[in-house]
Amino acid sequence: MKIHEYQAKQILQQYSVPVPEGQVATTPEEAEEIARQLGGTVVVKAQIHAGGRGKGGGVKLAKSPEEAKQMASEILGMQLVTHQTGPEGQKVKQVLVEEGTDIARELYLGAVLDRSTSRVTLMASQAGGMDIEEVAAKTPRKIIREAVDPGVGLQPFQARRLALSLGLHGDQLKFGTKFILGLYDAYISTDCSLAEINPMVVTRDGDLLALDAKMNFDDNALFRHQDILGLRDTDEEEELEVEASKYDLNYIKLDGEVACMVNGAGLAMATMDIVKYAGASPANFLDVGGGTNVERVRNAFHILLSDKDVKAVFINIFGGIVRCDRVAQGVVEALQTIELKVPVVVRLQGTNAEEGSKILEESGIKFRVARDLKEAAEAVVQAVNESA
Ligand code: GDP
Ligand code: MN
Repeated sequence: MKIHEYQAKQILQQYSVPVPEGQVATTPEEAEEIARQLGGTVVVKAQIHAGGRGKGGGVKLAKSPEEAKQMASEILGMQLVTHQTGPEGQKVKQVLVEEGTDIARELYLGAVLDRSTSRVTLMASQAGGMDIEEVAAKTPRKIIREAVDPGVGLQPFQARRLALSLGLHGDQLKFGTKFILGLYDAYISTDCSLAEINPMVVTRDGDLLALDAKMNFDDNALFRHQDILGLRDTDEEEELEVEASKYDLNYIKLDGEVACMVNGAGLAMATMDIVKYAGASPANFLDVGGGTNVERVRNAFHILLSDKDVKAVFINIFGGIVRCDRVAQGVVEALQTIELKVPVVVRLQGTNAEEGSKILEESGIKFRVARDLKEAAEAVVQAVNESA
C-alpha cells in the first residue's frame, strides 16, 4: 500500500527524522492561510501517489500567501502527468504547503527489501534529486549500499558509513547517522517495503531535512497497523484493483487485451507467458486463489468483464484443492447477470474437470473449451483477432 508524502512525513517525524513544517490543504484559501501562518517563502506540492511531480509541474515555490493561493489553485484539480502516472495522469485533490527550504545539497536516502539477498538494504547517494533514476541506470557506482543483517538490525557503524559516503562531517555526520537510523527504525516498525527520501537535503544553515518522503507498506503486514490502514487513499488506486481487494482477490491491471482468470500465482505467470508467446497480451490477471468457491468466481468474473480493454477472456484453472465444477458454476452464474460481449476460452484440468466441462456445455453459453495450454493460448489469440 502507498501513502501520500505528507502522511509519510508525519510518520517519519515520529522516528526522529527531521521534516519541514507544513500542512495539507484541499482549497486555495486553505493553502493561503497555511502559508500565512508559516510566513516567508513556501512550497506548494501536489499530493499524488506518484513521483516525478517536480518535473510535471506539481511542485511550486510561492513568495507570499497570495502567491501560495494562486499556485494551489493551479495545482489543485490538475491532471498531473509524470513518468510514473502514465499518459492520462492523476488528478490532484490535495496540496502540501510547507516552509521553503534553502537548499545547499540534494542527497538520496532509501531503504528497500532486496529480494536477491533477502535483506533490507539501505542506499545512499550524493547525486540525489530529480534525476536519481538516471544516476542508478548510468552510474550505479554513485549509489552506496549497506545490507542489514536481520538478526541484529542496522548497526550504528553502518549508518555512519552511509553518512560519510554522503559527504557529511562533524555535527552533520552525527545528525546524518541519527537520520539514517531513524529512517530504518520507521521502515522496520511500520513494515515498509520501501522508504525513500529524495531529496534528503543539507540546508544553507547546515541542517538536514527530509524534503520529500515516500513510504510503501507490505500489504501482508497491514493487519497489525490499523493506523496506517486508515491512511489508505483508494482514489489513487486502480478502480478494479480496489474492487477486487474487497473480495480478497488478487487482481492486477496490465495493458494488453486478454483477461486471465487463474488459480495460483505460478499458473498466472505461466498463463501470461503462454499468451504472450502465442502472440497476444494480458489485460490483467486475476488469481482466484487455491480454495475458491462459486461466489468468489462470480465476483472475479464481474471484475474481469468490467475492464474495457478486454477483447477475450482466458479461464485457466488447475483443480488441485479447488474443484473445477465450482469454478464452472461460478462462471455460469456470473454470466446470468452480465451480458457477455467477448469470447471466453476455458481450460480446466484436475479435480472434477469433467463435471466442470459438462456444466459449461449445458449452460447454453458459447465457451471455447481447450484441452491443453497450447491449444488454449492459440484459441485465445484467435478470439482476440476475431473480436478486434
Ligand atoms: P518529486 O519530483 O515528486 O520527487 O517531488 P520532490 O518533493 O522531490 O520535489 C522536487 C524538487 O523540488 C526537489 O528535488 C527540489 O529541488 C525542489 N524543492 C522541493 N521543495 C523545495 C523547497 O522548499 N525549496 C527549494 N528551493 N526547492 C524545493
Ligand atoms: Mn522526490
